[in-house]
Formats: sequence, C-alpha cells, structure tokens
Amino acid sequence: MEPFAKLPDALLPWYRGHARALPWRESRDPYRVWVSEIMLQQTRVEAVMGYYARFLQAFPTVEALAGADEDSLFKLWEGLGYYSRARNLQKTARTIAAEYGGVFPQDYASVRALPGVGPYTAGAICSICFDLPTAAVDGNVLRVTARYLNDDTPIDLPAHKKEITDRLESVYPAGNCGAFTQALMELGATVCTPRSPKCGDCPLRTLCRAFAAGTAASLPVKIPKKEKQLVDKTVFLLWYGDELALMRREDTGLLAGMWSLPNVDEPLDVEGALRQAEAFGTQPQAVLRQEHKSHVFTHIRWEMDAFTILCGAKDDRFVWRTPDEIRRRYALPTAFRKFL
Ligand code: SF4
Repeated sequence: MEPFAKLPDALLPWYRGHARALPWRESRDPYRVWVSEIMLQQTRVEAVMGYYARFLQAFPTVEALAGADEDSLFKLWEGLGYYSRARNLQKTARTIAAEYGGVFPQDYASVRALPGVGPYTAGAICSICFDLPTAAVDGNVLRVTARYLNDDTPIDLPAHKKEITDRLESVYPAGNCGAFTQALMELGATVCTPRSPKCGDCPLRTLCRAFAAGTAASLPVKIPKKEKQLVDKTVFLLWYGDELALMRREDTGLLAGMWSLPNVDEPLDVEGALRQAEAFGTQPQAVLRQEHKSHVFTHIRWEMDAFTILCGAKDDRFVWRTPDEIRRRYALPTAFRKFL
C-alpha cells in the first residue's frame, strides 16, 4: 500500500485545528493566492505580510496589475528581492487580461503555461482555488516526505521530485485538495522544520519512519551546493549638489532593467574610482567617503566598495534625483539601497 495514503486522514484534522491565520488564506480567489505564492517564493511569511497587503491595495485585480506602470510596481516590491517575480506577475496579468478576459484559467495546463508559474505554484493554485488533485511540492514538502519515508534520496534530484509529486497526487482527497496542499506546507513550515523538528507535536508521529528510526535530524539529504560566484564591484554615490546619480541596469542578467547606483564589475582603489568617475563625465572633485558592503544573491556574492564622490558636472547617461525623490519614486534593489 502507498504509505502516503494515510496522510490525508492524519493531516486534515490537524490542519483544521492548527492552521495559522494568514491573509491569503481568507480567500480562494486565484489572483490573491497566486500573488501570495509568488511573494512567498524565497521569502519568509513574516516579511511577505506587509507587502501582500500593500500590493493588493494598489492592484486589487488582474486588470489593475496589468495596467500598472513598471516603476510603481517595482516600488511596491522594493526590498522583497528577486524582482523578476514582479515583472513576471505583470506579464502574467497581461496574458490573463488579453487571452482570458481577465479571468484566471482554471485547468492545470493553462495555469502552468502562464509566465513565471512553475509546477509548485500551478499545483498550489489549482488545488487551493479549484480543488484539483495537483500537489505543490517544494523543499518544505520534500523534507516532510523524506522523513516520513525515512528516504535518503537527495531531494533536489528532479526525478525524485517528480516521483513524490505523482505519489502524493495519487492520494489527494477529493473535496479537500486545497486543505491537503496547505496541510503539507503548514506541517513543513511549523512542525517538521529543517532544524529541531517538533516530533512531539506532530500528527504523523506514529506513522513517521524517520521518527521511529531516530534519523529525522539527518534528513533530508541534499546534493552539496556549488560555491557562490564572487564578484568584486565598485559602486559610486555621485553627488551633484543635492542630487544623486542613478542608472538603469541592462535588460538582461541579474536585476535586469532595475534602477541602480552606477557601478563597475572590478575592484578599484581611490585613484581608480576617481578615474572612473571622470570617465563617467562627472568631473569628480573629491572622494568624501569609502565603505564596503556585501550582498548575497542565490548564486552570486557581491563584495562592494562604494565611493561617495562630489561631482562638478552631471552626465546625462545618468538620471540625477534628490534622496527624497529616490525614496518616493524609485525602487532600488537592496544591494544598492544599503548604501543610502
Ligand atoms: S514525526 Fe518528526 S520527522 Fe516525522 S514528520 Fe513529524 S516532525 Fe517530521
């Protein structure tokens, strides 16, 4: 018998009594569930709450999001990171507005085909909003299943994820698909946590093979991560009067199309920084300050030396704005905002 077959009966009553009251659980509106799922990728629940409320206030419908200008969209996303998520949300909203008359598609294949919607998000939307037996399998769920089965197969192997998805979908309880998806997520987030799982409070305790074997702490197994690529950067805070230079990043690569402080991908000393500021056409007068900060992305670590430079000229390759204007209107990625 499929060991997962016992999961619905064990998890659903527990979920009804223990689910956290989260704003995106108040509705089965696919637009709201979708926005929450995209925001929750790589981001903690506590950090998402405020963003979610402000985002839905600004863009309460698919049409409102489809019609938003990119700067206001990024401004609302500022600090949440992974800005391509915001761009994909809007691209998807435009697709839904243009191809589906503003109504979210209701079958898995159409949802999965939307930009930025992977199998996890499509599974979550279809099970939670349309009660379809589509599993949403992420690292949280794979940790639960690895321990439940006492399985040391590396959870990041695509074939393993596919197998777990298929097996879970074979036991999805009709009429309770959304609750089952959320119960698995909730167990991984609050009880079967990466470190120190709370087995004493777990509804699966009597069924869990890792608990019986005493191996929970050593599961799941993961393929060792590659070292992050290190990039030494020099960042410029170029001041002309009370205005600071900003530039748009290129349309491809990391932080594509975002506003940023001027920067180059090489480490420079004071002399080099002044030469570069000259090459930027800003007639540098003096270096007022130098500081170092790091920023870590998924695969890359930036080590940044920033120079605050007083300039004698503005160059129109940059836009020049006061700090107040920047704060109100421009979304700067955290990597640069930490210098302001
Ligand atoms: S008993 Fe412990 S290891 Fe097993 S699923 Fe529950 S919390 Fe995770």
